[in-house]
Amino acid sequence: MMPLSLTPVSPLGGFGLPGERRELSGAEIEQGSTAVAANSGAAEASCVRASETLRILLLAEIANFTLLRRHLGVTRSETIVAELVDRCAQILPGARSRSSSDRLVAIEFEAASLEDAEAAAARLQQGFAEPFNLDRETHAIRLRIGGAAGRNCDCEEVQLAEWAEKALAEARAEGRDIIRDVASTHLGVDPLELIHELPRALREGEIFLQYQPKVRVRQQEVASAEALVRWRHPTRGLVLPGEFIQAAEQSRGIGALTLWTLEQVLRDQRMLAQAGYDIPIFINISGVLLADAGFVDQACARLGDHGAKIGFEITETAVIRDPESAIRHLQRFADIGVVIAIDDYGAGLSSLAYLKQLPASELKIDKLFVTQLTSSNRDPLIVRSTIDLAHALDMEVTAEGVETPAAMALLSVMGCDLVQGYLISRPVEIDAFRQFLEEDEHLKALDGQRFSFLRSDRLWKSA
Ligand code: C2E
Ligand code: MG
Ligand code: MG
Repeated sequence: MMPLSLTPVSPLGGFGLPGERRELSGAEIEQGSTAVAANSGAAEASCVRASETLRILLLAEIANFTLLRRHLGVTRSETIVAELVDRCAQILPGARSRSSSDRLVAIEFEAASLEDAEAAAARLQQGFAEPFNLDRETHAIRLRIGGAAGRNCDCEEVQLAEWAEKALAEARAEGRDIIRDVASTHLGVDPLELIHELPRALREGEIFLQYQPKVRVRQQEVASAEALVRWRHPTRGLVLPGEFIQAAEQSRGIGALTLWTLEQVLRDQRMLAQAGYDIPIFINISGVLLADAGFVDQACARLGDHGAKIGFEITETAVIRDPESAIRHLQRFADIGVVIAIDDYGAGLSSLAYLKQLPASELKIDKLFVTQLTSSNRDPLIVRSTIDLAHALDMEVTAEGVETPAAMALLSVMGCDLVQGYLISRPVEIDAFRQFLEEDEHLKALDGQRFSFLRSDRLWKSA
């Protein structure tokens, strides 16, 4: 077992003076032994020593909390977080764990390196592989962990908390645990600061799109694609939408960004159509824009006489905010031929019956349920009943986050219409996407009966 280097933090709150550190063996960790904090020595000396250690803050969230609450009711669901704190303390006895909300635990400790922090997060995940008992029923807790590692003495507690929250938001979006070393990333930059640079970024071609195919399971063909925005920042490197979309929404820069995206997608869709691949391309539309009549007018004007196959992906929260205008505006888009898909279904609270008021013809099951499909007991039931209900309501179902052949096989048996995920292709730029379509067609011609897109390792892994 990999040794894990942890030192406890001050039990009085905050990050105490760094203690003497020693390697803890996996056995020691499992037995619950802790390294002892030696809060001695002058502050200055501690600071020098401390600069070699990292202050770690992990935020471990119950990813399936909404479902657990639906099953257990509000009162019983509130007891789960206490279970979470206890378990975290058992798994990482050298750390300080406390509940931060009804679904979130904050875990603080010091570690020698980012790898140690990642090993601690992995240990938490292992520890939660076992379901827990509540009133003689067993329940699986699925954790999503986001964390930040800062160097002692030059890292404010509040900053670290903000960075950890941001990492958790990214972890949710990407469906994997993320711990950032704040010293070596640009996470410390306020996204609102970044957003001031957006107009320049759009002007100077720093913003670009990647495309990810959606594949029709039964016909074994690429049915459509989703456009995902990225920012190639001159000093910060590649910035993903999780880092700036929300700030763009708050600063009202989202309208210009989305109109730019729409125009780029119209160009790319036309180019693909001319090359023989006339497939719809979906754009993500933020909720704030669905309530914005000015945006709707401008988008309709651009779409107007284009005749291009365009779809919009909207999340359920987008509609909850202002259902009346959202439905009216979506209907305007639907009337000019835009296909509407409901994105991230299951991540929020709304019922499908409620969402059926929208002129939507596609439902995308959140990747949260799909990535765990073959390792959890409950998710296959949820996915299956969602597929059946969506079909009963005349909607097609897309599963996003399909990463393994096992998930793909199960979804196929369940009658899922479309799949999207790293198994088939990561999001890629337009030229690579076009090449993907060409190779897929070529492979299918060679062997029509098989999933051509599952045959080439090179294709699935293309970055
Ligand atoms: P989304 O629309 O749900 O997009 C799916 C996200 O899942 C993408 O992350 C995609 O790269 C990722 N993904 C795809 N396949 C897999 C898989 O097999 N496994 C895992 N773990 N993840 C997978 P990305 O590109 O970082 O985008 C995150 C979110 O940002 C999107 O979620 C969407 O809500 C938003 N977004 C992206 N582009 C735009 C845009 O142009 N406008 C707006 N308003 N939002 C956007
Ligand atoms: Mg989407
Ligand atoms: Mg989605």
